[in-house]
Amino acid sequence: MPQLAQRIGRAKPSAIMLIAEKAKQLKAAGRDIISFSIGVPNFLPGEHVYAAAREALSHDSGQYGSNRGAEPLLDAFLKHIEALGLTGYGRLNLSIGIGAKQVLYNLAEALLDEGDEICFPAPYWTTYHDIADIVGAKVNVLPCGAEQNYKLTAAQLDAALARKPKLFLFNNPNNPTGMVYSREEIAALAEVLVKYPDTWIVTDDIYNSMVFDGIGYHNFVQARPELRERLIFVDSVSKTYGMPGWRVGMIAGPESVAKAITTLNSNHITSVPEVITAAAVAAFAGPQDMPQAKCAEFAGKRDTVVAALRAIPGVICPRPQGAFYAFPDISVAFGKSHNGNKIENDVQFCAALLEAKGVACVPGSAFGEPRALRISYTCPTAQLAPGLARMAEFFAELS
Ligand code: PLP
Repeated sequence: MPQLAQRIGRAKPSAIMLIAEKAKQLKAAGRDIISFSIGVPNFLPGEHVYAAAREALSHDSGQYGSNRGAEPLLDAFLKHIEALGLTGYGRLNLSIGIGAKQVLYNLAEALLDEGDEICFPAPYWTTYHDIADIVGAKVNVLPCGAEQNYKLTAAQLDAALARKPKLFLFNNPNNPTGMVYSREEIAALAEVLVKYPDTWIVTDDIYNSMVFDGIGYHNFVQARPELRERLIFVDSVSKTYGMPGWRVGMIAGPESVAKAITTLNSNHITSVPEVITAAAVAAFAGPQDMPQAKCAEFAGKRDTVVAALRAIPGVICPRPQGAFYAFPDISVAFGKSHNGNKIENDVQFCAALLEAKGVACVPGSAFGEPRALRISYTCPTAQLAPGLARMAEFFAELS
């Protein structure tokens, strides 16, 4: 019997999907389940996106498209990133992918050889570690716990880059914590980054439109424009425009990297379909009122979540300022029991919470922080307070 490739042994199924599956099964069995597990937007794209897709369908060529992305899409993306403060880019700085996830995988293939070091802060989006493992990179995780608001400090970054990693991967606003770096914090990290010219920088900023409290979205390139030479900015239509299933991600970076991604595309995916391309153009170039309205809604939900969690004795909940996640430190529960079941860690906590109260959250260890759990608050608003009340009840019942 032939063997699977070794890299498959390093690939793990997503912990988020596992808990979401379990919640689905319980629901199908008739349980009243409130799911805080999956990080998908709770809204559909605007009508102009559907209209563009329908129009494209009516004259679809049915042919393969550009490996880099169709020119109208590249131009719409250029305008989009200009509005984010990323100026001076042209079409040759861009390339496309089937969602940010595939773009990130392509970047790992393009930038990392087996054994190369990649570093990123924890808590991190689960897929980062998995992609690094699959391509055989060495991972240096930089722990950033609740005590430092889940944010990387300049000193930590300096120590990590002194090891001369090939790639530093950064995510702002952050999944799973919802933390957003201020202009000053970005500037302080950028000062460190300029000291290490041999390290690539990838910034996965797909939640850039979801920032609350007027702090704004900031980027290393704005702070130190010379970083553009080795920084790759990643974006996607998934979260901003309510289009996770449409699968369009983009990069802006040095021409050499954009060319490498385009070459990989020519061998992996060839192109993004015409109809999807037209929808993505409409999303980037069309009215931006939907993301703005959703941002206001999420900020209100964030307030509800933070207030409820902070009212639970011992739970530490840094205040998120973006995306749609909260990441409370629930380690106060470890060593206690619920209905006679001992809770030693985050995985047992989430399993017991789901079983006893029908509330699904993702264990923090999936994101490299086993003292916490992730709450995604994209559920209907009417479910939010009851779900949080059930969590409080669960804590109160611990002995
Ligand atoms: N990056 C982060 C931080 C995410 O949270 C996600 C999705 O949850 C992705 C990338 C993947 O996005 P896409 O749907 O564009 O593949």
